[in-house]
Amino acid sequence: MDLGIRGKRALVCASSKGLGLGCAEALAEAGVDLVMNARGSEALEAAAADIRARFGVTVETLACDVTDEAARSALIDKAKGVDILVTNAGGPPPGLWSDWEREDFIKALDANMLTPIALMKALLPGMMDRGWGRVVNITSQSVKAPIPALGLSNSARAGLTGYVAGTSRQVAGKGVTINNLLPGIHATDRAISLDTGVSQAQGISMEDAKAKRAATIPAGRYGTRQEFGAACAFLCSQHAGFIIGQNILLDGGATNMTI
Ligand code: NAP
Repeated sequence: MDLGIRGKRALVCASSKGLGLGCAEALAEAGVDLVMNARGSEALEAAAADIRARFGVTVETLACDVTDEAARSALIDKAKGVDILVTNAGGPPPGLWSDWEREDFIKALDANMLTPIALMKALLPGMMDRGWGRVVNITSQSVKAPIPALGLSNSARAGLTGYVAGTSRQVAGKGVTINNLLPGIHATDRAISLDTGVSQAQGISMEDAKAKRAATIPAGRYGTRQEFGAACAFLCSQHAGFIIGQNILLDGGATNMTI
């Protein structure tokens, strides 16, 4: 399917690896020029070079922490005029409800709620002026089915979800869509780090931790970054203009619900 977005330009945050990279690759395959970001420059430059070579699109990069206000301003400057925004950042660490202090919540809110909100606030006006735009926020399955050990993530992402519900309906009339993609378990470094936590906490091998988690997914496996990226690219396509303010689960059926 031609996604109809060749020649558009996208900012994909936190995109040197994992789900962000999947989104960057799928958009590039659709002919979208990119601004890519991650903190570590080595993996970022390698990913950018690979995408340029495979898809022939223009890829600019800025290595910085997207949750840092000054760094984010520089990223927004670089991305000025983008048609597509994919927000993403690392997820907060797991723990117990009693582990977290105010500072931990502030950090999680900064990364997974206030950063995407700041990016939208900066880049939505240009999209609205031009009458076309797409925003996809990478959130989590925990938005629909909170995961007990991920209290920081549950809290911050619930805040972002509420913001998107209202904002998406305020900008839709200008040709701009905002939606959230909710990953269940995908085979990325994040999944490895969560499996490591389970393996240490339960005294089992990494393989057993992974098999145990895969058994909770009706699809019987972890998702891939390519599958995730394809869903993101579709939401950014010309065909998705009537999809507004949705929270779309990509979880292999793990969350058992009807809506
Ligand atoms: P990942 O494989 O660990 O990749 C994270 C990417 O983001 C890397 O490119 C990393 O590069 C970059 N990054 C992290 N923090 C950043 C920051 N502050 N500023 C700029 N770049 C940053 O993670 P993932 O699995 O793709 O997860 C992406 C998001 O989805 C996370 O919020 C995660 O919690 C959520 N999620 C993932 C899963 C899953 O199963 N994978 C499930 C539910 C939710 P640098 O380290 O070099 O910055």
